[in-house]
Amino acid sequence: MSNPCLKCPTDQSCCRELHGLKVNDAEFKQLFEGKSEHLTVLQKGKLYEISSHGSGPCPHWDQQCQVYGKRPMDCDLYPYTMGNVFEGEGEVYATYHSRTECPLTAELLGPREAAEALIRNFLKDTYGEHCKITVRYDEGAARIYHLARRAAAKAKRLMFADKP
Ligand code: SF4
Ligand code: SF4
Repeated sequence: MSNPCLKCPTDQSCCRELHGLKVNDAEFKQLFEGKSEHLTVLQKGKLYEISSHGSGPCPHWDQQCQVYGKRPMDCDLYPYTMGNVFEGEGEVYATYHSRTECPLTAELLGPREAAEALIRNFLKDTYGEHCKITVRYDEGAARIYHLARRAAAKAKRLMFADKP
């Protein structure tokens, strides 16, 4: 399986600075349980949010992902990423967005239908076949992120315009 991130202009920053990766119990046990001394793990209902200590790399990164063929769904989903997940009685509501720093977003971002199918399968595996699942793209999160990026770029342009 070829890894398009090998040509990443940021030298794979999303794997080198692991922050808030969402995994389920099966993924946690398979990939992260034995590595937890390097990680901050927050359990939220049936999901875990994983970050490396001091914004360090994912324990599976060594110049490239060493578990690419069995990486967690949230990595496969990127540059979409999971947002909030609300668990209720027999139902779960999840959001996702494309508010990421990936410089190859235009190339890697697939159709939303494919992203939603991936998330649905993940949630079914996590919460069970009979759980009612709702998945929504979070337009608000994406818009706020892109506005903030534009404002930051404009501020940078103005800052350099002042220089002689
Ligand atoms: S998803 Fe984007 S930012 Fe992350 S390693 Fe791949 S190309 Fe780089
Ligand atoms: S599992 Fe692989 S793709 Fe996911 S964050 Fe770790 S190194 Fe990156």
